[in-house]
Amino acid sequence: MFLLIVRNKSSIVKPLLRRTLTNFVERGLSSNRNENHYDIIITGGGMIGTTLACTLGKNAKLANKHILLLEAGKQKVWSLPEKYSNRVVSINPGTYKLLNYIGAWKHIEASRYAAVKRLQVWDAVSDASITFGEEENTDNVSYIVENDLLIAAVNEEVKTVDKVKIQYNARVKDYHLPEYHENVTQITLDNGDTYTCELLLGCDGVNSEVRKAMKVNYLNWNYHQLGVVATLKLSESIKNIIAWQRFLPTGPIAFLPLTDNLSSLVWSTTPENAKELLKIPEDQFVDAVNSAMWKNYEKSNIIDQATRTFDSVLRLMNCPSDTVRQFPPKIAGIEEGSRAAFPLGFGHSLNYIGKGVALVGDAAHRIHPLAGQGVNLGFGDITCLNEVLGNAVYSGSRLNNLSYLKEYETERQRHNIPTMLAVEGLHRLYNSDFTPLVLLRSLGLQATHALSPVKRAIINQAST
Ligand SMILES: Cc1cc2nc3c(=O)[nH]c(=O)nc-3n(C[C@H](O)[C@H](O)[C@H](O)COP(=O)(O)OP(=O)(O)OC[C@H]3O[C@@H](n4cnc5c(N)ncnc54)[C@H](O)[C@@H]3O)c2cc1C
Repeated sequence: MFLLIVRNKSSIVKPLLRRTLTNFVERGLSSNRNENHYDIIITGGGMIGTTLACTLGKNAKLANKHILLLEAGKQKVWSLPEKYSNRVVSINPGTYKLLNYIGAWKHIEASRYAAVKRLQVWDAVSDASITFGEEENTDNVSYIVENDLLIAAVNEEVKTVDKVKIQYNARVKDYHLPEYHENVTQITLDNGDTYTCELLLGCDGVNSEVRKAMKVNYLNWNYHQLGVVATLKLSESIKNIIAWQRFLPTGPIAFLPLTDNLSSLVWSTTPENAKELLKIPEDQFVDAVNSAMWKNYEKSNIIDQATRTFDSVLRLMNCPSDTVRQFPPKIAGIEEGSRAAFPLGFGHSLNYIGKGVALVGDAAHRIHPLAGQGVNLGFGDITCLNEVLGNAVYSGSRLNNLSYLKEYETERQRHNIPTMLAVEGLHRLYNSDFTPLVLLRSLGLQATHALSPVKRAIINQAST
């Protein structure tokens, strides 16, 4: 009878009535809630899973939804260490906004981070270069934050949200996703405990078991490169506000500012070189880092001539392509024991969603760190999913309503795929010293630098 009335109401009244009915039913259900049943279960408490739990927990539209976050690792009692961690991320303005919105940024601000005012990128085998954020008084290009500090800051906030429960030492070993008539997902932990939920969110990283359980196509390959990281001591104290990246024929090397005396290294290089870099004494490592940033590579006359001619053409068009090139800092040492290496690869799940399930962050996509976009794509997923799930519940739909989940998948793939293709293209273009390719990328970099709208478009894409 009630449903009959609902069917005959106008399109404005309908969602309202449906919402009231759903809330009524759910309130009834939740007061008798089976303690092993949750509205949402998130597997993986890395940067993405933890931030997702906090964001959904703070969404007023999801006020009566119970959320369980399961993390395989143990709970860390965290206090700010004196030494900087060698694992840092460069977060973009979109991520900064999200962390601010959930109240986590204030904890980072009260601890430590570095604001990047300018990004300078150049090619070792030609003179082509590009800068972003020329003016010191413009908005920050990005922020460098330690991974552990970011998770600790979000954890500090998530503590204030009662309906989010976090369980550590909780490795999920089995997923049963709903089939045909079924409407709940069941998961089993290593210790045999089982839980059910309406919506499962897989934030379990690159080797996602959730993605495997979804049986979706996953396009992936290894780069045959390792990312060597370390905390670098600068030879002198400077106003350290520039992120530097030089493309070597073997992969890019980047210095990310931490303090006036410290920067963080991310050096993507061949596995052989990476292994050597981890083995050699620290003073030799410092020499290798300085040489990679400063060494003069033999430049081709053809490329030199072509880039000069192109520069003259751009000048005639009133688009000068030359940049005020500054020089990167010299390195005097490294924090003891801060060297490490991580495998690099590409991965993209053809689908981010399925019945009762969605993938978020590295579980759905993985890219080369050369553009510092990996985790930022995941934070973008969180912002989108938070909005979509809020809208679903507000309009009286279930959390696992496929048409809402599809909205999430479509919107994110529209953003993630072009970004991933651009990063992949840059990786391929720069991973070579073959003259025609060097020429192509040098002219491309010059043109991009000279044409403000193109540069602005790149900044906009990388900032959200
Ligand atoms: C060298 C390097 C530099 C980088 N620099 C940048 C940068 O500057 N900017 C940027 O945006 N990105 C950067 N990235 C990428 C970034 O580090 C990743 O995108 C990010 O860590 C992914 O976070 P995540 O939470 O999705 O996955 P992860 O960090 O992999 O977290 C997954 C979590 O899931 C848990 N888990 C796994 N399986 C299970 C299970 N079965 N049950 C329960 N829990 C489980 C794990 O314990 C882990 O805590 C870099 C990457 C590398 C390698």
